[in-house]
Amino acid sequence: MITRERIVQSFLDLVAIDSPSGDEDTIAAELERRLRALGLQAAQDPAGNVLARLEGTGEPLLLSAHMDTVEPGRGIKPRWDGPDIIRSDGTTILGADNKAGCAVILEALQSLIEDGRPHRPVEVAISRGEEIGLVGAANMDYSRISARVAIVIDSGGPPSSIQGQAPFHYTCDIEVHGRAAHAGLEPEKGIPAISIAAEVVAGLPQGRLDSETTGNVGIIRGGLVRNAVPDYCLVQAEFRSMVEEKAETLARGVRRHLEAVQARHPGARIEAELRLAYPGYRLEPGDPAVDLLYPVLRSLGFEPNPHPVGGGTDGNIFRGRGIAAIVIGRGGYNQHTKDEYLVIPEMLDCARVVEAACRAGIP
Ligand SMILES: [Zn+2]
Repeated sequence: MITRERIVQSFLDLVAIDSPSGDEDTIAAELERRLRALGLQAAQDPAGNVLARLEGTGEPLLLSAHMDTVEPGRGIKPRWDGPDIIRSDGTTILGADNKAGCAVILEALQSLIEDGRPHRPVEVAISRGEEIGLVGAANMDYSRISARVAIVIDSGGPPSSIQGQAPFHYTCDIEVHGRAAHAGLEPEKGIPAISIAAEVVAGLPQGRLDSETTGNVGIIRGGLVRNAVPDYCLVQAEFRSMVEEKAETLARGVRRHLEAVQARHPGARIEAELRLAYPGYRLEPGDPAVDLLYPVLRSLGFEPNPHPVGGGTDGNIFRGRGIAAIVIGRGGYNQHTKDEYLVIPEMLDCARVVEAACRAGIP
C-alpha cells in the first residue's frame, strides 16, 4: 500500500542530498542503493543514469524521473506549511522537481513488491542532467530498456495534469571567424567578426513568431579588447514549434540566411551547428501511453487534463527513441523558484496512479 509517512520520508531524505545538475554522484549512488534494497537489479549506465528492473508479467512499463535539480539547490531546508505542504526556507528551491518524482517511483515499487499481486515488468530510468538540456536521457543506454511505454513523473500539479503537447526544439550554435587587426592603425586588414555576427543575429527568428512557434538568441560572445578588430564571435540561438513543419521551415530559413551572410563576407568563415535537440509530440487517442494511463486515471477518479507545454522533458527524448512517454504531475508548484512547494496528497495520488499503471492489463 502507498504509505504517506514512508513516501514523505523518502522525499525528505532525497532532498537532504544536494544534486544540482553536474553534481549527481551522491544521489545516484543513494538511488541505486535504495533500488537494490528493494530487490531490483540496479546499476548506472555509462552516462551515470540509474537504471533498474523489477521482473513481472506482460508488457514492461518504464518509470522515469530525473535526479538533478536547478540552482540554488544546495543546503535545502524543507519546512512544513500546514499539514499537507512542504516548502523550502525561501533561500533555495525545494527540489520537488524532481525528488518528488524519484520518491514516487520508490514508493510505487515498494508497494507493488509488498503487495505481492502480479504486475508488469517495471523498468526504472532516473536520469542525470535533465535540467541542463536532457543530457542524461539523450545519452542513456537504451539497449537496457525494452519498454515501449513510459510514465515520466516530472510535471507540476496533480497526476491528472499531463503534458499533452510539447514543441520540436532546434538549437543553433554559430561561430563567426574573422581576422584580427589594430582598430586604429590598419582596420582594413581586419574582418570584424562581431559586426558579421550582428548581421547573423538580425536575421534569426526571435520572439513569439506565432501561437505555437518561438525563437530566441540567448548568447552572443566575442571580442577581447576595444581597440582590435574582433576575430571571433559566438551566437547561440534556439527556436521551437509545436508543429514539425514550422520548425523545419524555420531551420531551412536559418540555413539560407547563414549562407547569404557568408556570401556577403567571403573573407570570414561562418560555422553553424543547427540541430534538432529533441522532437515534439502531441498526445492523441490511440497513443499507447494515452491508452494505458487515461483509463488508470479515470479508475482512480481523476479526469486526465492534458495541456501544452513550451519546454522539453526526458519524455521528448524517449519519444524520439520510439518509447511512447507520458509526462504526469507529482504535486509540485512554482518549479525552479525559491517559492517551490509540494502538495503531499497530490504526490500520494501520483504514487497510486503509477502503482496502478504497473498493474494495468494484468488480471
Ligand atoms: Zn523536472
